[in-house]
Amino acid sequence: MSKIAAPRGMHDLISPTCETNEALERMLVAVARNFGFKPIRTPIAEQLELFKRSVGEATDIVEKEMYLLKQEGRQQLALRPENTAGCVRALLQHALPLPQRLYYLGPMFRYERPQAGRFRQFHQFGVEYFGGAAPVADCEILALCQAMWQSLALTPKLEINYLGSREERSAYNRQLVIFLQQHLNQLDTDSQERLNSNPLRVLDSKHPDTQALLERAPALHDFIAPESSKSFTQLQQGLDRLGIAYSVNPRLVRGLDYYNDLVFEWISEDLGAQATICAGGRYDQLCTDLGGPNTPALGFALGIERLSLILESSLVPEPQADAVLIWGRQNDTLEKLHWLVQLRAALPHMRVVEVSGNMGKQFSKASKLGASLALIVGEDEYTARQVRVKYLRQEREQNTIPLATLASHLEQPHR
Ligand code: ATP
Ligand code: MG
Repeated sequence: MSKIAAPRGMHDLISPTCETNEALERMLVAVARNFGFKPIRTPIAEQLELFKRSVGEATDIVEKEMYLLKQEGRQQLALRPENTAGCVRALLQHALPLPQRLYYLGPMFRYERPQAGRFRQFHQFGVEYFGGAAPVADCEILALCQAMWQSLALTPKLEINYLGSREERSAYNRQLVIFLQQHLNQLDTDSQERLNSNPLRVLDSKHPDTQALLERAPALHDFIAPESSKSFTQLQQGLDRLGIAYSVNPRLVRGLDYYNDLVFEWISEDLGAQATICAGGRYDQLCTDLGGPNTPALGFALGIERLSLILESSLVPEPQADAVLIWGRQNDTLEKLHWLVQLRAALPHMRVVEVSGNMGKQFSKASKLGASLALIVGEDEYTARQVRVKYLRQEREQNTIPLATLASHLEQPHR
């Protein structure tokens, strides 16, 4: 019979990548908690209408990348392509009090062309901060990002831009369209398409001809009122005060419609084409767009797989076990399992494993796993219900300890 493979662009996460990702997720969550953020988990499917009204009908995500679920005669459901819309929906549905600082972690789905760092099921860690006014809340969110990079020993570059209000952006949009239509023949085909669906995205084009043309195009900043520009200046002063380095990229626009004022991306120099590891911005109108009260809000999402790609090469391999049972009796497997279970109960914070072979083989396997303790049970120890403890990564004397008091002898893990 033919074998069935995982869907294209969707992957099994197996060791060691799965472990790298888990370690990464733990570190991100720890930083978010350190900043006072609380977890939220929303369903992986939402009503399609939610994404149409938030991400935007004319975006690539909603137009081309949605996974729709069939539901007989009901509202159409979609697998979530991102989690901001779900968080806003939850905020409004439960009338959560403000301010709310939330973080999430989970799979997202986009029907994209799979390539390195771009998948159809991928994982995002993200935060949403509801009820925080600019520019202090913006600075807090960027400081949180900075703290994450510090804890991961990464140094991605921050690019920021200011989109102004929706009205300012649409005034600009109109002028940009007029200009680009006059120079249609100098636009790459992708940009010609975007000109009709989502003109601002033309600014994103990497095509050299289009880029050259954009040098002469109207600039968004000229359409933003002085009051708004002042707020951008204050934000930059805040970043300077917090020691967060950034550069202003006037062409930075995002693929989702809901942003206003601040947008930002963190870009890694260690990745090729898919270099953006984290992206976000302010979305002050999204709550009202979804039927709720006026609520200042901002957030970001980062791609776990992309971060993991960078980290995998630099992370020191973790030990695979903390302690190994070295079994010196005959091969009584059920009795060995019984001891393993007792050892695990006595040492709940350690990974206690068994290995096979004669005693010599067992010791060499234990050190290959990177374990720090050998828990030796030979005939004498078995009868006396004791364990001989040998430290594999420290110069320390062996000692024989009753099983009942093992935990208090090993108060801390000996990595
Ligand atoms: P890109 O420009 O790379 O397509 P995006 O603007 O679509 O990114 P967002 O929707 O802002 O990205 O998502 C935030 C982060 O999630 C990205 O910076 C990236 O790290 C990750 N991400 C987005 N799409 C994918 C994907 N298809 N596969 C893997 N990671 C992704
Ligand atoms: Mg994308």
